[in-house]
Amino acid sequence: MTIPHPTAELRLATELLRKARRVTVFCGAGISQASGIPTYRDAGGLWTSEDNLQFSHVDAYKANPRAFAAFWAARTAQMKSVTPNRAHEALSGLQGLRKTAIVTQNVDGLLTQAGCGAVLELHGNISKHRCDVCGTKDGRAFVGRCLGCWKPIRPDVVLFGEELDKQVFVEAQVAASDCDVMLVVGTSAVVEPAASLPVTAMQFGASIIVMNTEETPLDRAADVVLRGMAEVLLPELIDRLRTGEESDKLLKSVFSQRQ
Ligand SMILES: [Zn+2]
Repeated sequence: MTIPHPTAELRLATELLRKARRVTVFCGAGISQASGIPTYRDAGGLWTSEDNLQFSHVDAYKANPRAFAAFWAARTAQMKSVTPNRAHEALSGLQGLRKTAIVTQNVDGLLTQAGCGAVLELHGNISKHRCDVCGTKDGRAFVGRCLGCWKPIRPDVVLFGEELDKQVFVEAQVAASDCDVMLVVGTSAVVEPAASLPVTAMQFGASIIVMNTEETPLDRAADVVLRGMAEVLLPELIDRLRTGEESDKLLKSVFSQRQ
């Protein structure tokens, strides 16, 4: 089902992007919905929502590392069948038109798979492993164990009870402070500290475009609000930007030939 959207707002959003030299995209779960990312609740049917909550907390890794590793191995296996959708592809297209930094709360790695470069993954990446015992980053694992020290391995994601990676967050703050437009897609942007990114962007004078199926607390402060699904609206927005650029180029070349 396509949710209708007001064309005037899409036009305004296109205009903001057209004028922008630098764009920062801040996105969340809404861009991956069309890829069928399993939610915590329906992860394989093997796991109750209680298990999901339990194993998403750092305490489970410490208290029951074997069950923790088994749970995450099942989650990772599920992600292998998931592919990027038109929303991810549109963002890759945007990077071809504008200098665009992408900050995501998603751990699915689908933006990179869709061809997006230099994605700042605030909550890590489920397909990567790390070992807190021997300190291996993106280490290889076998049957849920670290190949470096054979202790149970963990996914390189930020668990409940843990802080965001400082370096990634600082880079995200820099991207937020150094853009003309921030495009906030598929996230209600309420979870701190990530929620501070649009605030930083506004403080540094950026325009804000919000794209979400539901109302967000950011809507009031935004310059444009596009209500609808990312996999519908993003391709349309980027197509409009691309078409505008092409006709600009055509006009310029006709004009220069006449001179
Ligand atoms: Zn290790």
